[in-house]
Amino acid sequence: MDCPLIRGELVAYHFGSVDEATRDAVEAHLLGCPGCLRAFLALKREIETAGASPRPSPAARERLRQAVARDLASRASAARPLWWRRPLAFGFVTAAAAAAMLLVLSVRGQMNLMAEIAGTTPAEVRAPAPADEVN
Ligand SMILES: [Zn+2]
Repeated sequence: MDCPLIRGELVAYHFGSVDEATRDAVEAHLLGCPGCLRAFLALKREIETAGASPRPSPAARERLRQAVARDLASRASAARPLWWRRPLAFGFVTAAAAAAMLLVLSVRGQMNLMAEIAGTTPAEVRAPAPADEVN
């Protein structure tokens, strides 16, 4: 067999789907023809990398399976109101957020007030200067 014929058989040879006579001919040719051997190795690499990348890992497949299960479960319970449609729950969340914000603001306000009284910035209040320890 000559080079063009061999190159035409390389894909089938890679997947082992050639008959015994063709396989022997391809192997004999590859041993004696660096050009076809290079072409075969390039083809092999291309097939192997192309086959590897789109395949998801078992972990990714498991995440997908769980996401689909959650989606199906949420569709099954779609008749129930969602949390943002429940006024009571939404009111509670809003009140809690407002309370947290007020707490942060009042702590900051107190620190600023203390700083004003002491005539220093809050950073100086928290970290005394080394000179104070000597005296
Ligand atoms: Zn060749």
